[in-house]
Amino acid sequence: MIPISRIVHALEPSATLAMAAKAKELKGSGKKVYDLSVGEPDFITPQHIRDAAVVAMNAGHTKYTLASGIPELKNAIAARYNADYGADHGADHGAVEYGAGHVVVANGAKHALHNAFFATLDPGDEVIIPAPYWVSYAELVKLSGAVPVIVPTEENTGFKMTAAQFRAAITPKTKMLLLCSPSNPTGTMYSGEELGALADIVLEKDLFVVADEIYGKLVYPGNTFVSFPTLRPGLMDRTIVINGVSKTYAMTGWRIGWTLAPLHLSKKMGELQSQETSNPCSISQYAALTALTGDQGCVSEMLAEFTRRRDFVSERIKSIDGLSCPEMAGAFYAFFNVRKYLGRKLGGVQIDTSEQFCLELLTRKCVATVMGSSFGCEGYVRASFATDMDTLKEAFDKIEEFLKS
Ligand code: PMP
Ligand code: GLU
Repeated sequence: MIPISRIVHALEPSATLAMAAKAKELKGSGKKVYDLSVGEPDFITPQHIRDAAVVAMNAGHTKYTLASGIPELKNAIAARYNADYGADHGADHGAVEYGAGHVVVANGAKHALHNAFFATLDPGDEVIIPAPYWVSYAELVKLSGAVPVIVPTEENTGFKMTAAQFRAAITPKTKMLLLCSPSNPTGTMYSGEELGALADIVLEKDLFVVADEIYGKLVYPGNTFVSFPTLRPGLMDRTIVINGVSKTYAMTGWRIGWTLAPLHLSKKMGELQSQETSNPCSISQYAALTALTGDQGCVSEMLAEFTRRRDFVSERIKSIDGLSCPEMAGAFYAFFNVRKYLGRKLGGVQIDTSEQFCLELLTRKCVATVMGSSFGCEGYVRASFATDMDTLKEAFDKIEEFLKS
C-alpha cells in the first residue's frame, strides 16, 4: 500500500464540504433535503460577469497567465481596496494604499490562505485562532507545520476575543493572529475599537496578522466594517488581507481569491504559486475583473435579500425554546446554541454532541447543518442562510419538530 505522509494523514477533511456532500447524497436518493450546510450563495453569478467570461474565452484568453494573476485584475483589486477603505476614509494615521505588486490572485480565498501560511510559517510557530473558527483554518495552519493555538470565546461577548484573552494566549513562539470578521461561523463582527485593541497588542508584541475579510461586503445595515490594516500606522506591513469573489459576487465555482500583502511576501507567494498551481483560471480572472470594476448594484441586491433572510432566521431562532445566537452583523450564518438539547433523547435517540445532533437532524428531518465541534465550539450548530426563503422556512419548522420529538 502506498503510504500516506504524516502531515496529510493527520489532516481532517473539511466538515462543511463533508456535510454538503452528505446532503447531496441524500438528495440523490430522491429525498427532499433542506440544505443549510455549505456557505455558498444560492444566486447564479450575475449576468454581466458571466457575459465577461464568454467574451474573454472568445477573445482567446484561454492560455497561461502570469502565475500570480493578470495585471489588470491585480490593479482592480488594489484600486477597489483603496477606494473602499483607503486614504479617503477618515483614517487619521496616514493612508493605506495598495498597488498591483501587493496582490497575488489565487485559486480561491482558501488557496490564498494556504499561500499566506505556507510562505510565512515555520514548524513550531504558533498561530492564535479565536474559536469558533472556520473549519479550514486550523488544518491549513497544521499543513504548514505550524501550531494552531485556539482561544475559546463566549456567546455573550458575541464570540469575539478580547484583548486580555489575546494577550494571555501569546507565548515566545507566537507569530501570527488569524482573524475573520465578519465571522464564519458566527456572523458577528469586531468593531473598530475592538480590533484596535487587538492591533495595539500586535504592534507591541511584534506579531503578524492574517485578516480574512471575505465577508467584508456582506455587512448588514447599522454595522460598519473596518479593514484591519487601516487601524493603525504600520499594520499594512504586518497584515495579509484575504479576500475573493466567491461570496460577494456569488462566484464560488470560479475559484478566484487573493492576498494583499507586503511586496516582498507577495513576490514570494507568487513564486510559490508558480511552482504549485501556476495561474488561477484565466477566464475566471477576466470574470472577476468585471465583477470588481462593473456595476456594484448586484452586491446591494444580494445583500438586501440576505438581510431579509438574516432577520427571518434570527427571529425564528429566538422563537424556538432553548435556542439562542448572537445578532448577526455580517456573512450568512447563524451559529445557535443547542446545549439545552444535548445529554438527552430526541425522538428516542440519545444526543450528546453537536455532531450527533446534526447527523440525527439530517437523517430524520433531512435538514443539513454543520456541527459546532467542527468550528472548535461544542454545543452549537451552524446554519447557512445563503438559501431561499421557502427552504429556510421549512427547514426551521423541521428543526422545531425535531426538538419537540
Ligand atoms: N474564508 C472564509 C471565512 C470562508 O468562509 C471561505 C468560504 N469557503 C473561504 C475563506 C474560502 O473561500 P473561497 O475559497 O471559495 O474563495
Ligand atoms: N466557506 C463555506 C463554508 O464554510 C464554503 C465551504 C468551505 O469551503 O468550507 O461553508
